[in-house]
Amino acid sequence: MIEKDILLDNLSKIEHLTFRCECCKKGVKLLDQSKYFESESEFSRSEFTEEVNGFKTKIHRRFSAGFICSNPECGDISIFVGDKNSVLKLEEGICQGKVTQFPVHHDKITIYDIIPTLNLFDIKSYSFKAEASALEGELEEAFSIFWRNADCCGMKIRSVLEVVMDDNGIDKTHIPMSGKNKGKVTTYNLYERIELFHDKYPNEDLKAVLNNLRKLGNIGSHPRENLTREKLVFMLETLECILNQLYTDNRKKLVELDKKLIEFMTNTQFN
Ligand SMILES: [Zn+2]
Repeated sequence: MIEKDILLDNLSKIEHLTFRCECCKKGVKLLDQSKYFESESEFSRSEFTEEVNGFKTKIHRRFSAGFICSNPECGDISIFVGDKNSVLKLEEGICQGKVTQFPVHHDKITIYDIIPTLNLFDIKSYSFKAEASALEGELEEAFSIFWRNADCCGMKIRSVLEVVMDDNGIDKTHIPMSGKNKGKVTTYNLYERIELFHDKYPNEDLKAVLNNLRKLGNIGSHPRENLTREKLVFMLETLECILNQLYTDNRKKLVELDKKLIEFMTNTQFN
C-alpha cells in the first residue's frame, strides 16, 4: 500500500509526493513546478481576513499539479487536483541575540482526484483465476473514487468481494427446492456467497474477515452513517491482505527454488 500520510491527508507539501510510474514501470513520477497552478478561493479572500504582522492567519487555495515520469523515454504525466489549507503559526527563533517570534504558514494538502488512477496497492502481481479484467476494473474504480467519496469507495470494496466470489466459481443464482421462491431463479446475496465460498475453501478466519468487510462496505449505502478515511484505509489494507492470500502465486518461485535444490544435490557428495 502507498504511504498512509498521503491517504490520510497528512501531506504538507505536494512536492514531497513521489510514486512509481504505472505507464513504464521504470521511472518515478515527480512534481513538475512548471505544471503547478494554485489560486486562493473567493471564500478565503472574503472570509479569512484576520492578519498577524501583515500575514493572513488562514488561507484556502485550490491547486492542480502535474507529475512527470523521470524516465525520459516515457515522460507520462499524472494530474492531481485538490485543496491547500494554510494556517499561520508563530514559531520562536533567535534574531540578533533575542528570542523572536516568526510567522510561518503550515499547509495541509487534500487530494480530490488523480488522473490517471493511482493504484493504492500493487494489483498487477496477482494471478487472478478467470476474471482478471473484471477484478482489476473493480479495484481501479475503488482506487479512483477513494479521493472523492469514502462511502462510495466502501461500497466499491464490497463490489470487489462479489467479483472475488465470481472469480472463485461461487454461483450467483440458485433455484430453491422450497420456500416462497420455490422453483424460481433466485440471486444469492453476498453473505450467502461467502458461506458457499467457505464450504469450497474452508477457512474460518478468512470467512470472518470477508463478512466484516462486507458489513463495513454496507455502511456507505445507509443514510446518516458515514465511513471515515481512517476506516476506509483500514478496509483497503484488509482487502490487500485478502487478495495477497488468494492470488499471490508462489509457483514460479517454488520452481526456481526447486532448481536450486537439485543443483545443490548434484554438487554435494552424499555419504
Ligand atoms: Zn514512466
